[in-house]
Amino acid sequence: MIPRSDAEVPAFTEALGLPGLADLHVHFLPDSVQRKVWAYFDEASAHYGTEWPVHYRLPVDERLTVLRDLGVRHFAPLVYPHKPDMATWLNEWVRDFVAGVPEAVPTATFFPEPGVGQYVKEALDQGVRCVKAHVQIGGYDPRDPLLDDVWGQLAEAGVPVVAHCGNGPIPGKHTGLDIFEDVLREHPRLVAVLAHAGLPDHAFAIDLAERYPGVHLDTTMVGVPFNRADELLPTDWPARLAGIADKVALGTDFPSIPYDYATQLRAIATWANADDRLGDDFLRTVLWDTPRRLLALR
Ligand SMILES: [Zn+2]
Repeated sequence: MIPRSDAEVPAFTEALGLPGLADLHVHFLPDSVQRKVWAYFDEASAHYGTEWPVHYRLPVDERLTVLRDLGVRHFAPLVYPHKPDMATWLNEWVRDFVAGVPEAVPTATFFPEPGVGQYVKEALDQGVRCVKAHVQIGGYDPRDPLLDDVWGQLAEAGVPVVAHCGNGPIPGKHTGLDIFEDVLREHPRLVAVLAHAGLPDHAFAIDLAERYPGVHLDTTMVGVPFNRADELLPTDWPARLAGIADKVALGTDFPSIPYDYATQLRAIATWANADDRLGDDFLRTVLWDTPRRLLALR
């Protein structure tokens, strides 16, 4: 089955024999930051050239209820700084947040700034399971020498870093998978989850996943009508996914998406149905096994 609405999502996962969903790419932010993010999306026409009506603009407790009703059993609440002197505050905030939300795994973020190696070390020591690097919003060069030790620590720890390093939805100063590949060359064992499957360079993202053992893709906003799936995805997308089927993890960008959660699941189900090598096994891997493996959940 394919879920036509959020209400049908629990039946969809149950039909697959799954206890629910594990979402590697969700955002929760301090209220003051969340308000600014939503204000930015309200001006989306100016920034992205298109309207971006945030579908789940709700208070935190109601957003958590939505996730629970969808059957999201585990999620990584990702935070990210757009300037220096912000990451440690966000990391403290998210630590408090996950303490009260059993489905949320501890995460952290960073920025190229003095002390970054130390606070990333502390976060890893505290058991962080997932780290966010927002190269586009942060406007930094992922090859910044200040980050060399950070990538090294993450590679050593095997903790996944969800990296928004592609040129979509709009390029940043130092975005581009070619730039990020320089980091991978230096740290070839890095467990890097290319956010949005490298949007818009999806074919390059698959190349990287084929060539580097730790490179994965997340599904966030990929293949949805809003993101011009027909134009952006390579025509052989499902066939190429078959070669890296265990390196694709559910991500959604909940709550700041301009459509409902089921829309993302429909896109993934469409790929699964488009190639005999994918099918329900692929769905189970993407929606549950791989994100759980990455988040070290048992
Ligand atoms: Zn995101």
